[in-house]
Amino acid sequence: MNFLDFLRRMFPMAQPPAAPAPAPEKSKSLGTPSSPTASSPVRYYPQTNRKTPNVSAGRVIKPTHIVLHHSSGAYAGSVSWCMDPISKVSYHCLIARNGKRTVLATPSQRTWHAGVSSWQGRKDANSFAIGLAWEGDTYQVPLSDDAILSAVEYLLPILDEYHIPLSNIIRHADVSPGRKDDCSPAAHAALIAALNRVL
Ligand SMILES: [Zn+2]
Repeated sequence: MNFLDFLRRMFPMAQPPAAPAPAPEKSKSLGTPSSPTASSPVRYYPQTNRKTPNVSAGRVIKPTHIVLHHSSGAYAGSVSWCMDPISKVSYHCLIARNGKRTVLATPSQRTWHAGVSSWQGRKDANSFAIGLAWEGDTYQVPLSDDAILSAVEYLLPILDEYHIPLSNIIRHADVSPGRKDDCSPAAHAALIAALNRVL
């Protein structure tokens, strides 16, 4: 799939139809994708790859679900926290409000994002779910279009490779009810709506 074509197709739909003042820099940024290189695929949103220590060494998981989080904190500090062995937490991917993202582990690594958790009779979501987090608090500030679309760009190849249906994209609050409330139902719905446009 050509992600830029997809973005151009769907991005107008992400805007309110009668928006009084569409942000001009938005359409400008759409026309300036990062240039392709021989070694890396074309990416619309910049991606930094890191290797978090907060994984179960030697464990290989076969992800069947995506668990959505928000980090509460700001992007840079949240990346640092995920990279700090003292925190003992990490998502697979953390996405900033402007759409740039850090990938901290491969999909088959067992990162420590969900803690005590269960879903449909299966315990320990870390053993079967990829953790994706958005910067900030999704209850306080709705996700930006860039944050949603960056998640779409990150997830599309993973959903394809592991045959994960959209119904298996769930919230941290779903797997750790009472203990966690992230992410907001609205953030979850926005991601599903965006994915539904391209799948
Ligand atoms: Zn969480």
